[in-house]
Amino acid sequence: MKFNELGLKKSILSAIQDLGYETPTPIQAQAIPYLLEKEGDLIGLASTGTGKTASFGLPLIHQVDDQSKNTQGLIICPTRELCIQISRDLDEYAKNIPKLKVVPVYGGTDIVKQIKQIERGAQIIVATPGRLLDLINRKKVKLWEVQTVILDEADEMLNMGFKEDIDSILDQTPEFKSVWLFSATMPKEVAQIAKNYMVDPHEITVGGKNETNKNIEHHYYVVKERDRFDALKSIIDFNPDIYGLIFCRTRRDTGNVADQLLSAGYNAEPLHGDLSQAQRDRVMKKFRDKTLQILVATDVAARGIDVNDITHVIHYQLPEDVENYTHRSGRTARAGKKGVSIALINTRGGRKINSIEKIIKTRFELKTVPSSDDICETQLSHSVNAILDENQDLSRIKKFAPMLLEKLDHLSKEELIQRFLAVEFNKFLSYYDKARDLNAKASDRGGSDRDRDRDRGRGGKSKYKSDPNAQRFFVGLGKKDGFNSGALLRLICDNAGIAKKDIGQIDILEKFSFFDANPKITSQILDGMQDANFDGKSFNIEKTKGGGDSGNRSGNRSGNRSGNRSSNRFGGNRRPDGPSKRRSQKGNRRTN
Ligand code: AMP
Repeated sequence: MKFNELGLKKSILSAIQDLGYETPTPIQAQAIPYLLEKEGDLIGLASTGTGKTASFGLPLIHQVDDQSKNTQGLIICPTRELCIQISRDLDEYAKNIPKLKVVPVYGGTDIVKQIKQIERGAQIIVATPGRLLDLINRKKVKLWEVQTVILDEADEMLNMGFKEDIDSILDQTPEFKSVWLFSATMPKEVAQIAKNYMVDPHEITVGGKNETNKNIEHHYYVVKERDRFDALKSIIDFNPDIYGLIFCRTRRDTGNVADQLLSAGYNAEPLHGDLSQAQRDRVMKKFRDKTLQILVATDVAARGIDVNDITHVIHYQLPEDVENYTHRSGRTARAGKKGVSIALINTRGGRKINSIEKIIKTRFELKTVPSSDDICETQLSHSVNAILDENQDLSRIKKFAPMLLEKLDHLSKEELIQRFLAVEFNKFLSYYDKARDLNAKASDRGGSDRDRDRDRGRGGKSKYKSDPNAQRFFVGLGKKDGFNSGALLRLICDNAGIAKKDIGQIDILEKFSFFDANPKITSQILDGMQDANFDGKSFNIEKTKGGGDSGNRSGNRSGNRSGNRSSNRFGGNRRPDGPSKRRSQKGNRRTN
């Protein structure tokens, strides 16, 4: 099917042609003719990146009467980024209809300016729920002529707690309007909105309900907790052309991972709620422009990120709520392209992978962290390919060539090649010379929590069981967090790199826990545990007063968290300037 068979106005068709859209995507091919012909309500279920904006935007623009300045179409979406993106797309589609005005309204910016824009006439308003409600309450938007209300990413809006705002907005729109609801997933809360506000809606599903995009490959890697970051670096190094989005659960982890990547020489920056709006805009602009290669983000900050060409989404930690996996991974493989979604899990993460597989109805592929040799070979051949690139601009270097050639004349071709590559790669190669295998062994993965608890918990054979000289520690995780003795052992041993025999009695209480350990490794434990997390949750760990004094068994806490956690777990940049120089050059190269 071609766009000109859908029944759209000529002015719109020529705008679409200028955008380079040739054939409608499946959701467009189904939704556009329906919406042009029928006046009813519609539910469109499709993952992000499948062309949803045009599937509602084109029929809406087609229907709007540009001779009236009143608001006729209202689009409600979850985030400022998406709001701006939708209104930009609509401006493009309507570029040959000069009187048609699309006004985006969203929070965190001057409301007076937005009011002025609306007063000048806005046939279509694209809004985030909170700001729209504010404008409605100030009586600055007039909704009585609204014929179409579009709820975009409805599931995300409900996830973000906008249910009441959406109810209030819908209650104020005219009774005889059409509601077009678009969503990637159909949880019961979305079905409830449909039930309350839509009349006999026509449903279009592209792919199965709650299914992710078929163009996404889902991979997972099993690593020990302490190797998570090194595994991330290996995966990035094995994909030199990565243009990626890394998800962490908390702002703190997001900041840490981005800082560590940056100081290891990667072209990475964080995006999270602690940044000002101006900072977020700046980071997003760099990412969109591809001067930034890797964006590390929290779920909330990354909502509505609509950037094409993202090659990899990496879940540094899986999301707390498995439903969020679909939203995260949907940031890649947009507009018919292919993409990879990679989950880094520890030895306990398998169950979560199973639950996600059930939701997305797709199997994950277990991958092994690439070996040092594989990574080095990939990097070298990537560099050689860049040298062979026919589009390389040689004009600037030409005038220096005679002088360079004279200096290098005595070297053979082989030697010359090796030396050039050595300048660029020696530090990188020596880092990988020393690198360990980061894949968690089968033995680390096997055995149930119960086995481990029995072997290593209260009844374990540790030398430090009931030892009066043992150091006692407090851990801010308890049964309510799903914590048990096996989990404690894995957490401490993996992160601090100690043997299980050095851990003694373990007491898991409802909200926190205690354990005894060899006093000689106290600082190894405290150092190793800074920045550790349990299934993405950060927690406190402290020495209790008086070491293993039985009087303190109830957990008298005196440790100073900041004092114990002052040094950086990764001890600064382990690969000083080698890859750093190369990375930033590569980052720049992408823009040229
Ligand atoms: P959306 O799901 O609306 O955010 O669209 C994802 C991306 O696909 C956007 O960058 C659109 O510009 C692009 N796109 C949408 N429809 C088409 C089409 N029919 N042909 C080519 N690209 C499209």
